[in-house]
Amino acid sequence: MKTDGLSINLATVRQQFDLKTGVEACLRHGITAISPWRDHIQTTGVAEAARIIRSNGLKVTGYCRGGLFAASDAAGRQAAIDDNRRMIDEAAAIGADCIVMIGGGLPKGSRDIKAARQMFADGMAAILPHARASTVPLAIEPLHPMTAADRGCISLLSEALDLCDALGDGVGVAVDAYHLWWDPYLERDIARAGSRIIAHHICDWLVPTKDLVLDRGMMGDGVIDLPGIRRMVEGAGFHGHQEVEIFSAENWWKRPGDEVLKTCVERYNTVC
Ligand code: ZN
Repeated sequence: MKTDGLSINLATVRQQFDLKTGVEACLRHGITAISPWRDHIQTTGVAEAARIIRSNGLKVTGYCRGGLFAASDAAGRQAAIDDNRRMIDEAAAIGADCIVMIGGGLPKGSRDIKAARQMFADGMAAILPHARASTVPLAIEPLHPMTAADRGCISLLSEALDLCDALGDGVGVAVDAYHLWWDPYLERDIARAGSRIIAHHICDWLVPTKDLVLDRGMMGDGVIDLPGIRRMVEGAGFHGHQEVEIFSAENWWKRPGDEVLKTCVERYNTVC
């Protein structure tokens, strides 16, 4: 079965593997592209993580996840900016194609989503010079609006693209099917995104979804037209990897990691 163009976001097997064992497992299944999370890199150590990735010739389709700039005071906002700058250095060290940036929620006690969005825009502007100097693109990932309060105040692809337009070079978008499949203007906005598309994440939307964050489905088990979205993304000019990103506390995280990866490869071939 083909694994060309398939990437595994290591959160998909985060309960089963760390970075090293996750890489080994991916290679067992012929998968040569990954997307690690920050804890994967930090617990392994940046230098050792970079060595593991390089010595195995892996492609890193993204580094998860930055952004989350909103805070209730200036010191908190500055701390988030500093932390994102460090993340850019880590992304450069591991050769990541991009950092996935999410909007963040509202600061504690706030009812001002407009202000939270502005803090995200300001934070992006603050770190962008360092990202450009490090040649690490920042991929804004709009999240499903159900997460706007606690993790993702940037919800629409059009909104992310407006931000890209305002910020200029070095910023693009991550098109995650789980977050965007429902958007009636998705086709229009993916076409508008064009070369701004830096990453394409896949999984499925289960009916019913039992947990809004931790019950993502395996491709083919839900209602998302994944080939349809892929056609839109390719039509816009993105031919990069499809990155499987499944958070599944009650199902896939409880299964043997090799079974999860085997299923990812099968569904990538039969569904995506
Ligand atoms: Zn994603």
